[in-house]
Amino acid sequence: MTHIETLAVHEGQTIDPATGAVTPPISLSTTFERQADGSYPHGYDYTRSGNPNRAALEASVAALEGGSAAAAFASGSVAMMSILQALSPGAHVIAPGDMYFGIQRLLREVFGPWGLAVSFIDMTNLDELRQALQPETRLVIVETPSNPQLKITDIRAVTDLVHASGAVVVVDNTIPTPVLQRPFLQAADLIIHASTKYLGGHSDVLGGIVVAREETPLFEQIRLIQTIGGAVPAPFDCWLTLRGIQTLPVRVRAQSSHAQHVAEFLANHPAIEAVLYPGLPTHEAFETAVRQMAGGGGLLSILVRGDAENAMAVAANVQLFTRATSFGGTHSLIEHRASIEAPGTRTPPNLLRLSIGLEHPADLIADLDQALRKMTSEA
Ligand SMILES: *Cc1c(COP(=O)(O)O)cnc(C)c1O
Repeated sequence: MTHIETLAVHEGQTIDPATGAVTPPISLSTTFERQADGSYPHGYDYTRSGNPNRAALEASVAALEGGSAAAAFASGSVAMMSILQALSPGAHVIAPGDMYFGIQRLLREVFGPWGLAVSFIDMTNLDELRQALQPETRLVIVETPSNPQLKITDIRAVTDLVHASGAVVVVDNTIPTPVLQRPFLQAADLIIHASTKYLGGHSDVLGGIVVAREETPLFEQIRLIQTIGGAVPAPFDCWLTLRGIQTLPVRVRAQSSHAQHVAEFLANHPAIEAVLYPGLPTHEAFETAVRQMAGGGGLLSILVRGDAENAMAVAANVQLFTRATSFGGTHSLIEHRASIEAPGTRTPPNLLRLSIGLEHPADLIADLDQALRKMTSEA
């Protein structure tokens, strides 16, 4: 059972021994019976410490990533918080300057005052990384492709450099998913997901998960923070995410192939200044992307010719795409990123991020084409 399609359907998805139910039941009970001798024969005592639906989700994602254990959380953001809380005040963290904006805010506004020192660098530039590493550096965060500029970081080159200095590398694998990118094969120590995106896959459940290549003391501390703190997903949220995971490989491959079509069309469009997509040979790190990814993924960004107003006009004119944040669902979304990120964002004002869903790519292309033409004729 080593293929990801098989793992997605079977791992954590056992037949219920009590009823024979093929689809797992949802265990809403917060508490579990203790035997006369004081033991817990099923391994559960209280749902903050452990729950059958959460255990199933954790087993599934650990298997998909090829890790040894996973800890599921109520959001992708609190999954990252748990890693940061597992460090000590005074520790130094290196993060990409163009990573997901919410995590940048966590680092600056919550963990700065808490006592972490953070350097934001261009993670695609190994010289910058080499210079940023300090004796106090405990953690290096990699997000590849990055959100929303789709920059590609060479994971193996980063882990080689960072491990030589004794720090740990966490890779945010939310955008490519294990279907397209395997960070543990590139020696990453931890993987994080906003399962809100592709793992859940239907824009109907918030969640996050930390996966460990090995159960190190750092991961034990993350587990402690999860079970003592309790920022855990509800049983129904775990169940929904696990249901989404069953179709993860087919969804992600279809979305990646649709996105490739859309990107190739837009790359030649006169109203577009640039398409940021790792599946295009024009991408600045195309060779690394080809080596490290099994497809460009379902997310791409475009720089519209003109300024923020032109980009807003394109978003205003689409009919099939929905103007909304987030990504990874079945329904295609378009978003003007700079205006949702806080002031101080490095995202270009003419950037639109597209999350390609499962609609036919020809329909998505026709919709973008009419919106771009309208923008040009209105200008
Ligand atoms: C959405 C996202 C997060 C945060 O996840 P939430 O579930 O919204 O808290 C973290 N990293 C990346 C790359 C994301 O896209």
